[in-house]
Amino acid sequence: MVQRSQGESAVCEAANPFEGVQRRIDAICERMNIDQGIHARLRKCERELMVNFPVRMDDGKVKVFTGFRIQHNDTRGPAKGGIRYHPDVTLDETRALAAWMTLKTAVVSIPYGGAKGGVICDPKVMSQGELERLTRRYASEISILIGPEKDIPAPDVGTNPQVMAWIMDTYSMNKGYSVLGVITGKPLELGGSKGRFEATGRGCMLSAKMAAKHLGMNIKEATVVVQGFGNVGMVAAKLLAKEGCRIIAVSDSRGGIYNPKGLDPEDVLRHKTETCSVVGYQDSETVTNAELLELQCDILVPAALEDEIYKANAPNIKAKLIIEGANGPTTAEADEILGDRGITVIPDVLANAGGVIVSYFEWVQGIQSFFWDEAEVNDKLQHVMANAFEEVMSISQHEKVDMRTAAYMLAIGRIAKAITLRGIYP
Ligand code: NAD
Repeated sequence: MVQRSQGESAVCEAANPFEGVQRRIDAICERMNIDQGIHARLRKCERELMVNFPVRMDDGKVKVFTGFRIQHNDTRGPAKGGIRYHPDVTLDETRALAAWMTLKTAVVSIPYGGAKGGVICDPKVMSQGELERLTRRYASEISILIGPEKDIPAPDVGTNPQVMAWIMDTYSMNKGYSVLGVITGKPLELGGSKGRFEATGRGCMLSAKMAAKHLGMNIKEATVVVQGFGNVGMVAAKLLAKEGCRIIAVSDSRGGIYNPKGLDPEDVLRHKTETCSVVGYQDSETVTNAELLELQCDILVPAALEDEIYKANAPNIKAKLIIEGANGPTTAEADEILGDRGITVIPDVLANAGGVIVSYFEWVQGIQSFFWDEAEVNDKLQHVMANAFEEVMSISQHEKVDMRTAAYMLAIGRIAKAITLRGIYP
């Protein structure tokens, strides 16, 4: 759950993110008349591992950290999902993130199930040495679950290609040989895929273009606000600017910056790299994250954490189109308000699927030991995103439902079919 330093909080509204996902799954299963046994399986995570493990800190003391690895469902293939390092990681947040991965991989029709991992820690206050020791011990603790044919982690909030490299090395050392396919989001020098770092932001840009076309919005004249200037938000801002959009505001955990004439995302990144925040960037006005979400704009890209758009601020959102770069940025109550106000939401399980799609390409390339050039990766990503977008749009139009409901219908239909075909063993 996001800790808000100011203003109202969505805590009362969505005290438990996994219950929110379960409620959405319930509504779709009832609407689609899904078999009761399949519905019951989708409401639960298949495997849940909680680990409490020691790490020697730089001052010589031992600190015990708590982490999770959760597989929601692996009917359609190996479980897949990122690893989050953040002080607010919880069991239920990890469950929710794992369930969204099952839905996402089904929406874009790649042969994976869903998983997620996390460690309760604050990577911003840890040294590289502490992070490496934490990562290697956590990887060892969860090694009973992960593997290239079983469960393949990737980066999420607070983790990066270096963390993926340590996990790949730890797993490989324990096996006695190099295992590229155990993790994705690796550095290029270690079997990473070209285009993976930009993939989630690129998928957001492609979703925004396709949605704008359906809405009759000229993307080249669109104004854009991005919450969260990390892997997803920064790349989305950069690629949308390349498409001609005007990026008028961006933010990170320390606050936001606003310039109605437009910001240069590359230059904002330079400032963030030098000062650790976007705040203080030249020729910009400082805004809070709460104010940023309510700015006048055409496209809003929430790309930070869950539950940022909730009951209290949903009536004040002025964007015409929301592209969910983050997982779960909109609560169910907010969704209804946005729908009633005619605001189009391209849901997380579609909009931010670019990351897992190129992770799938990375896994395929690693298994074959045959690597593609960036143009080929981006071309295949565009193809998968376009197919998924059109399938979701077609259900949305045919069934007269919003894009999230349509995406869940597409995903749950596919997962239910796979579960039925496999049957129950023994
Ligand atoms: P990241 O750690 O690279 O960046 C997160 C950014 O959000 C940082 O700039 C941070 O300062 C900012 N932030 C944190 N709390 C904030 C707040 N309350 N308000 C505003 N900004 C805040 O993480 P990321 O990989 O970019 O992930 C962002 C979101 O996208 C998460 O929801 C994640 O699950 C989702 N996602 C990531 C990927 C991926 O490939 N990395 C794929 C799909 C979905």
